[in-house]
Amino acid sequence: MTTGFVCHERYMWHDTGSAGLFVPSTGYIQPASHVEHPESKRRIRNLMEVTGLIERLEIIQPRSATREEVLRYHTADYIDRLEAMSEADGGDAGIGTPFAHGGFEIALLSAGGVLAAAEAVVDGKVENAYALVRPPGHHAEADMGKGFCLLANAVLGIRHVQATRGVGRVAVVDYDVHHGNGTEHAFYDDPNVLTISLHQDNCFPPDSGALEDTGRAAGKGYNINVPLPPGSGRDAYLTAIERVVVPALTAFRPDLIVVPSGFDAGGFDPLGRMMLSSDTYRSMTATLKRLARELCEGRLLFTHEGGYSAVHVPFCAHAVIEELADAETRIEDPFAPILNGMGGHQLYQHQEVVIDTAARLAAEVRPASELSAV
Ligand SMILES: [Zn+2]
Repeated sequence: MTTGFVCHERYMWHDTGSAGLFVPSTGYIQPASHVEHPESKRRIRNLMEVTGLIERLEIIQPRSATREEVLRYHTADYIDRLEAMSEADGGDAGIGTPFAHGGFEIALLSAGGVLAAAEAVVDGKVENAYALVRPPGHHAEADMGKGFCLLANAVLGIRHVQATRGVGRVAVVDYDVHHGNGTEHAFYDDPNVLTISLHQDNCFPPDSGALEDTGRAAGKGYNINVPLPPGSGRDAYLTAIERVVVPALTAFRPDLIVVPSGFDAGGFDPLGRMMLSSDTYRSMTATLKRLARELCEGRLLFTHEGGYSAVHVPFCAHAVIEELADAETRIEDPFAPILNGMGGHQLYQHQEVVIDTAARLAAEVRPASELSAV
């Protein structure tokens, strides 16, 4: 079985303009590239070409998501607004989500790349897939863009295979350093989609991603947030995977696992304050792949989200995709020994308190069908 890979040069043409990091270049801020610029993404694909990893993958061509497919989550008003702005000069899709003329079409191709990858995984054309799409998706809300995200790529991918391919339960494991608020909100009432987000405590969006936010109505208990303290490193992440993700997914028995994959928990990221090296990303991927093989015939879909250190991100993404594909290029990541040699990788008590609280939530997870049968 193979690993599918989605990418397209058009993704790199999504233009976020100039900013100071992400703050508009006004007043005293000298104009520079917006932090969500193409370079980290383009360099992932370039590194994969240089190492030969890309030749080991099944290339999946993206397509544009249709209006009907986008309406499975987003409101008609929001789509109309995006379309009108995109036909003119662009603007801001909501909060902190700048885009230029034509940006809506690129967002449709980004969402459609995830749909194509989800189809390939569910149809068994590939075992798992990595969708290197842009713009990202996990902050987008039904009626507005947020945090560089125009359309909720992962949400649309999940709804698509549920609507067209009879997929039932889906588990989402989001390790982007920011809270996966859009994905949480999309499925907050839904017991068939278990959403887990490992993120830096109260980083972005503000006041989002608390331990107490566990779902609503029938979806109560099917949303688990793990708001890790700033400075968390290898052991905090791997412990969260072992004590929260593994038991929750094992109990939930998903038909598909979706991973919004951000590399902004990397130790050199300008927006995150975490410590990860490519080794931890590789380890997390190995566990997710093992879970997928044990629980759902390997069906595992990664959708690219954040990660803003243009030089470091490609090595993290390369490790993840290499692990997904069982490929043995094993190139050396020159940054791994530097980050691994820094302090802060052991599990500290203030991190363990958070993880153990989330672990108690994970211990309560059951497939919804079993609950209703009781
Ligand atoms: Zn992020």
